[in-house]
Order: sequence, then C-alpha cells, then structure tokens
Amino acid sequence: MSVETNEEKGHISIHTENILPIIKKWLYSDREIFIRELISNAVDANTKLKHIALSGEYTTNLEELVVEVTVDKEKKTISIKDNGIGMTSDEIKKYINQIAFSGAEDFMKSHQAKGDINEIIGHFGLGFYSAFMVSNKVEIITKSYKEEGAVHWENDGGTEFILNSSDKQDRGTEIILNISDDSAEFLEVTKIREIVEKYCKFLPYPIKLNGSLINENSPLWIKRPSDVKDEEYKEFYGKLFPYEDEPLFWIHLDVEVPFRLKGILYFPKIKHELDSSKGRIKLYCNNVFVTDNAKEVIPDFLTLLQGTLDIADLPLNVSRSYLQNDPYVKKISEHITKKVADKLNELFKSDRTKFESFWDDISIFVKYGMMNNEKFNEKVKPMILFKTSDGVYKTLEEYKEKNKGVNKEKDGKQIILYSSDPEKQVALIDMVKKQGLEVIYFNSMIDVHFIQFVEMKESGISFIRIDSDSNEMLHGEDDTKVVDENNQTVNDHMKTFFESILKEDEKYKVEIKVKNMKDNSIPAMIVFSEHLRRFKEMNFMHNRDQNIDLFGDHTLIINAGNDIIKKIYDNKDNAEKKEIINSMVQNVYDLALLSQDNLKGERLVQYINRANTILGNVL
Ligand code: ADP
Repeated sequence: MSVETNEEKGHISIHTENILPIIKKWLYSDREIFIRELISNAVDANTKLKHIALSGEYTTNLEELVVEVTVDKEKKTISIKDNGIGMTSDEIKKYINQIAFSGAEDFMKSHQAKGDINEIIGHFGLGFYSAFMVSNKVEIITKSYKEEGAVHWENDGGTEFILNSSDKQDRGTEIILNISDDSAEFLEVTKIREIVEKYCKFLPYPIKLNGSLINENSPLWIKRPSDVKDEEYKEFYGKLFPYEDEPLFWIHLDVEVPFRLKGILYFPKIKHELDSSKGRIKLYCNNVFVTDNAKEVIPDFLTLLQGTLDIADLPLNVSRSYLQNDPYVKKISEHITKKVADKLNELFKSDRTKFESFWDDISIFVKYGMMNNEKFNEKVKPMILFKTSDGVYKTLEEYKEKNKGVNKEKDGKQIILYSSDPEKQVALIDMVKKQGLEVIYFNSMIDVHFIQFVEMKESGISFIRIDSDSNEMLHGEDDTKVVDENNQTVNDHMKTFFESILKEDEKYKVEIKVKNMKDNSIPAMIVFSEHLRRFKEMNFMHNRDQNIDLFGDHTLIINAGNDIIKKIYDNKDNAEKKEIINSMVQNVYDLALLSQDNLKGERLVQYINRANTILGNVL
C-alpha cells in the first residue's frame, strides 16, 4: 500500500526590489566604510591596469596612477576617480548590474598566468553597493583601457538603471555619489579626510582629497624583513602610536603559505599592569585598514601587543563571531602565537642581559599567555625569569639548582619562598637571606594565578609566601619541651600571659603562638595561613567579594628567645609596673603589624599615643 504524500519542490523567489534596501541597511554596520570600499575598487582598477601593462598587453606611464576623491558640498556630491582599467559597457552590465558578481575573481581567473595579482582587494562583488548607504543616486562614468567609447551608468537606489554613452576621454572610472540629506555629514571635507586617513593611509597609489595628498608610501610591513633597519621599525611605530614610548622589540611577520600574512607586532613598554591603552593591533586587508582591534584574529593574550597585521584573504564582510571560529583564522592565530614564542626564545638565547632588561615589561603578558595557551606555555616555560632577593633574574631550573637543600623539603617538594611585597616584607626576607636562601619576588596581580599554575605544572615544587605560617625558615620548634606539673611548657605559660593582655582583636581573629625564632632580634611577627590567604586573593581577583580585607585573620608569633619578650615576661607579676608591661605587650603586637606595614586606623592612633607616653617618661 502506498502512502500518499503532498511533497512539492520549488525555488525560493527573491524580489529584487527588496535587495538594495537590505544591502543599504544591513550589509555594513558602519556607514563610513563606503569610502573604503570605493577607494579599494579604484585601487584595484589601478592595480589591474598595472598588471596588464607589465604583461606587455598595454602601454602607459604607471607613475601616473592615482585615486582622486573630491567632495563638493554645494553640489552635494562626492566623487572617487581613478585612472585604472575602466569598464566597457558589457563589463558594467556584468559586474555592476549583477549584484554579488565580483569582477575581481573574473580578473584573477583570466590573468592567472600573468604574475602576482594577489594584491587585488575585491572579493565579494558587494562593495560598490555600499555607496547606496549614503547616496540617493550613484553615477559611474567610465572608459576602459580597451578601444571602446566611455559609458555613463546611473541608478537612484531602485532596480532600474540607465546606461548611456559618455564623452569622457581619459581612461578610468569616476564614481559620483549624490549624497542623501540624512548623510550630509559626509559632505564635510574634514570628515572625509579623517575616514580616508584611517582606512587608506597605506594604499600603494597616491590618494588625493580635493587635490591634496593623504596617504604615505607603501607600508613598512610589506618590505622584506631583511631590508628594514631598526630605526625604520621605531619610526613606523611612532607613526602608528605617536604618544608611546619606544617599543621593546618587534616581530616582523612575512608569510606566503599556507596563508598570506604580513605585519609588524611590537612589544610595548608596559608602565602599569592594567595599562589598557596598550594593545592595539590594526588589522589590514591588502593595505586597507579594516579595524583598530584585531582581537578576533589573534589569541586573547596577545592583544597586549601593538602594531599591524595584514591578512590578504580575510573575509571582510562577515560577522566577528564567525571570524573567531573560522579554521583559517585559527591557523593564523596559531602561527602568530608560535612566532611570538620563537622570538622570545631567540632573544633569551642570543642576549640574556637584554632579555632580562625588559623582562619586567613583558612578564605579565608572557605569564598570561602561558596560562591561556598550552603550546605557548611549552615553548616559553624554560625561559621564564624569576627575580630573586639576590637582585638577579633566574629561571626556575637555575633557582632550584642554586637553592636545593637550603630549605627543608615538604612531601618531597622543594619549598620556594616568595615575597609579594619586598618592601613590606623586608624584615622577613632578611631573616631568610641570612640563612642562605634566595626569596623570589612575585609582586604583580597576575602572580596570584601564576603561582597556582606553576605548582600545577611542576610537581616537584611548592610556593610559600614569606609571611606564611608554614614557613619554617622563620621559627624553630615550639620550645624546650620541658613541662611542669600541669603538663605546661614555659611557652604555654607565656602564651596565656600574652593572650590575657591582648585579648580579642575587635576586627580579626588573632591566634597567638610562642616560638623560638631563627633571629632573636625580632620580638614578634605576623604570619598568615597560606591556604586561606590564597583563597581570599582569588576571591578578590574575581571580584566576587569587593569588600574583602586582604589583611584579615592572622597569627602573632611571639619570640620566646627575644630579650624584650623575656623582660616583659619576667616582670609579669610586678604590680608596680603593670601599666608599662601592658603598654609594652600592646606595642610588641603593634610593631609586628607595623614592620609588615599593617598597622592602620584606630590601632595606629593608639600606638602613637602609647609611644608618646613612653617617650615622655624616658628622661
Ligand atoms: P568587488 O570589488 O568585491 O569585486 P564590487 O561590488 O565592489 O565588488 O565591484 C564589482 C566589480 O565592479 C569589481 O569586481 C570590478 O570588476 C568592477 N568595478 C568596481 N569599481 C570599479 C572601478 N573603479 N574600476 C573598474 N572596475 C570596477
């Protein structure tokens, strides 16, 4: 038994009258790019003529190739004129009247054998129609290089066009836009100048606006890297980023296969960790500016770099999100990452001193890159530098080698002590240095993450901050272990005594411990739980808790071997000196806070008052 179906097949019909308004509205998000598209077409026309001339098919003076933009506010027109290949009336019918029929591809096919025509910009056969975003009428007056009369085409935004002969004598094309009232802003020469400078600064023919030259010669990135001097790179950087310091170094990309990619990426001097003004890679497509922000084509961590990227086959009028997922773009992104890693390796190997001199400027970005990109991490990890308390830079291997055995191992891991603030923690650093151990400086925000990252990757090490309660370089065993009839040590008694005076801090939980420190000149110090502190910092960085107090709960370690502490304790039962003993205990705590720059607010005021009273009684 057969089942009856109502299947029907057919073609979706397109009402052509609707197409132009759609293009006008949706094709490009930014209206100003009509200038880019029309100048690109004009440049293409010149380039095509150049190729035909070079192949011997046609003779002309190539020096004269130019693009002229004229803004006439009174007539309300903008004209873009080239002296390139021009179009015959048949070509107009083919390339202009059929939307999305690109002459660029046709030209490529028919001239494939005649040298390199890669620099032709057009692709999609849509650019010309962007003119309608700002015009109520568009005219083309064109004369082909072929022996044929000139033609005049005009269209007022509908599907009907008028094609006529014209008396134009010279070769080339002039596009005349009759600017609509809602686009009158484009009739200001200053506005057009701004747009032309932005998009067309590096085009290969002179671009003139109302007679004056706008663009430079060819951009530096198209030269062969071996032909460019350091000074030229710096000068070019200065032109791109006029208010910046000199760049640290740069990478000149020059790839032909499997994709065509050129560009110069500069490593800027980073003055501040969150220097958001940095990181502008201008994206070009065959020398035409596309966007100020190439973040779709380069990996996230490289957005800190500055410079230019010229990707010849970049699909220009597709959406950004599409770009990001495009396999072609991914390959480019991987290539750039590899080149950056190679450059760092080369610098590290060829000139360690120089590499060290700019390490502070690039470390944030390198660390960020390592955490975000496994391949990059693999390549650069042997040359990551750690600044140490000896005032030198060491790789992890160099550090491990030099400090092996100085500190105790824990769970089979080498303990690496670090300081997050060498100024605040100077007293503790000194104590550790005296015992022959180098302290590593991790003092940028990114290090909070980076430390965890390195620990995860390197199983044989563990980082501990210098003021951590598990740092055994600061203090020794609890005490002499001699106990009294109540099973209490001297230190236990001391602890009870100090607790009775310091009581509970109103703000934080303070644990008091009495220990024998490695350096008896210090009465007391503050330490933190490594684990808890890291957890807090993570929360803080992820902004989950804005009010988080990074100082917080802590442990006060009283040094049983220190003379002041001994004196205080010896006088604990002296009723006459009760007041001064109380003040001294408070001051011991305050000085411990102060020595790590943590004495703040009300406690600070009280400390100053107490100190003044004591001073007043000295003489
Ligand atoms: P695309 O440039 O992407 O091919 P366009 O819509 O901008 O698409 O142009 C369609 C075609 O019209 C071009 O490929 C080219 O053959 C022709 N054309 C446009 N502008 C000019 C010009 N100034 N000179 C000669 N030919 C042109």
